[in-house]
Amino acid sequence: MKSMNISPAKGNRKLLKKLESRKIDVQTCYQCGRCSGGCPVADYFDLQPMEVVRLASYGMEQQLLSSSTIWLCASCDTCATRCPNDIDITALMDVLRELALRKNIKPAQPRVPAFHLSFMESIKRWGRTYEVGMIGAYKIRSKDFMGDMKLGLNMFRKGKLNLLPHSIEGKPEIREIFAGKGKEYER
Ligand code: SF4
Ligand code: SF4
Repeated sequence: MKSMNISPAKGNRKLLKKLESRKIDVQTCYQCGRCSGGCPVADYFDLQPMEVVRLASYGMEQQLLSSSTIWLCASCDTCATRCPNDIDITALMDVLRELALRKNIKPAQPRVPAFHLSFMESIKRWGRTYEVGMIGAYKIRSKDFMGDMKLGLNMFRKGKLNLLPHSIEGKPEIREIFAGKGKEYER
């Protein structure tokens, strides 16, 4: 991880206001490091969870939204569970990913949002995952046309991939969720 100068003078209050509206209180962090110490993916991060919290407390949005960490976080919740101040770091990562997408920030790990968008698209349309359609959309977005081909064929042979989509009964409710998503983050 490269060193970074974290300064409140460079930050802005908008990010903090967003986090406050989601009841994510990053200001109570006293940098004990328990979140970073328990994170199973931390070795692959360019910012440790405790650094993400500190940067957020200074409103340093740009550094956060362009990091690999927000895309590599597995949302396992270990950090939030270990935090003595109950800071919801998992939700913080969610907010940062959502903001990065809304602001069209070039993702440091482009395959992750490509998968995320393809997955959400499938849920929005069918109310559940339609694997074949989702994989097709992911391949087009990521331009990774040949990756995992053998795995896909094996899954198909074993009947794990349905060629036709299955819908669910509660699609109107799903549509309502999508219609209201993230309005609190609009600028
Ligand atoms: S565990 Fe909580 S208080 Fe400790 S560094 Fe992480 S976010 Fe801050
Ligand atoms: S939720 Fe993300 S940051 Fe927290 S411990 Fe899990 S992978 Fe690490």
